[in-house]
Amino acid sequence: MSDVYAEPTTGADPTDPATLARYTTLRLGGAARRLETAGSAEEIVQKVQDAEARDEPVLILAGGSNVVIGDQGFPGTVVLVRARGFRVVAEDADTVTVRVEAGEPWDDLVAATVAQGWSGLECLSGIPGSAGATPIQNVGAYGQEVAETITGVQAYDRTHHEVVRIEAGDCGFVYRGSIFKYSDRWVVLSVDFRLARSPLSGPVRYAELARALGVEVGDRVPLADARAAVLRLRAGKGMVLDADDPDTWSVGSFFTNPVLEREAFELFRERAADLGEPPSWPGAGDVVKVSAAWLIDKAGFGKGYPGPEGVAISSKHTLALTNRSGTASTSALVALAREIRDGVHDRFGVTLHPEPVLINCTI
Ligand SMILES: Cc1cc2nc3c(=O)[nH]c(=O)nc-3n(C[C@H](O)[C@H](O)[C@H](O)COP(=O)(O)OP(=O)(O)OC[C@H]3O[C@@H](n4cnc5c(N)ncnc54)[C@H](O)[C@@H]3O)c2cc1C
Repeated sequence: MSDVYAEPTTGADPTDPATLARYTTLRLGGAARRLETAGSAEEIVQKVQDAEARDEPVLILAGGSNVVIGDQGFPGTVVLVRARGFRVVAEDADTVTVRVEAGEPWDDLVAATVAQGWSGLECLSGIPGSAGATPIQNVGAYGQEVAETITGVQAYDRTHHEVVRIEAGDCGFVYRGSIFKYSDRWVVLSVDFRLARSPLSGPVRYAELARALGVEVGDRVPLADARAAVLRLRAGKGMVLDADDPDTWSVGSFFTNPVLEREAFELFRERAADLGEPPSWPGAGDVVKVSAAWLIDKAGFGKGYPGPEGVAISSKHTLALTNRSGTASTSALVALAREIRDGVHDRFGVTLHPEPVLINCTI
């Protein structure tokens, strides 16, 4: 069991009010009124119920890798999800279904499934955070997303005060979203993933990954090779957490790739005509997804572009905003995000939306 989550560095009792910057990969966020650590599903439910009984707002926090918390912190109880472990709950000749506790470090799980010869998560190697947070924004990378393997989620329903199972079809999975994102109703306790028993990855869908592996799109490769290639590609972009690399002091991609209706896409193409054909992908229905990284770069915000107090665009990836000084405020990061969003809108007429969950701050 690796200790991948930040923990208090002062030796303070973790239930004392504490600065949330210690628990976020951006190293930003003011203090919580109360901080509680939950080591099991039962404890998570209990801590949430206790806070409700005190009439306090609740924030569920796990790896802190997809949140931007305001400088004022959180005026209620923050429950740190630290319930770990996973077990096989169903299997047949071709598949295994693993039930994973919400606080299990995501990449530990991916490494274990690859080592077992279970295929389905290998392209999601190196993503920070917890297994329980993966359904929240339907975590995805390099042509895979968790919606393809999740069969159901066990969650505490804060509206009806009961633990329920939500089948995958009812999770509302879409690109970087689900019914769980921006909802206080559900607390994810564990997640079921159905994986194929196979020494090989699924068909490689992402051209950059296929190139790195020296194969064609659609080919399958040994699971360990897929994992190694993804980790290499991610590290080159500052997309694997590294305490010594300030390019990784981020939430990964700060903006989602805009999804445009056909008409809006054609208008955008006209405005970008002087720049050649912009990268785009067909979405479900008559929509087109465009590259946020390209928009940001072409609007004049290149790698390393600085904001106030030492925040900056990562020097390795245009989509990552970093607290590279380690001492900035959330206000400074949000000011940089706003400048980029407005600059992209002025240049292309396209609105960027933040990917992380913003808590007590807005852009
Ligand atoms: C360097 C870097 C690279 C990244 N790369 C990717 C990527 O390739 N693809 C991708 O999709 N994401 C990526 N991310 C974003 C992030 O790692 C994922 O979204 C991850 O799943 C967040 O997990 P977490 O445990 O850190 O969640 P947190 O940041 O702790 O929480 C995020 C949100 O989920 C809620 N939440 C967390 N746990 C629960 C729970 N058990 N029940 C209910 N709500 C919960 C929180 O309240 C919050 O709203 C990256 C982040 C970083 C820093």
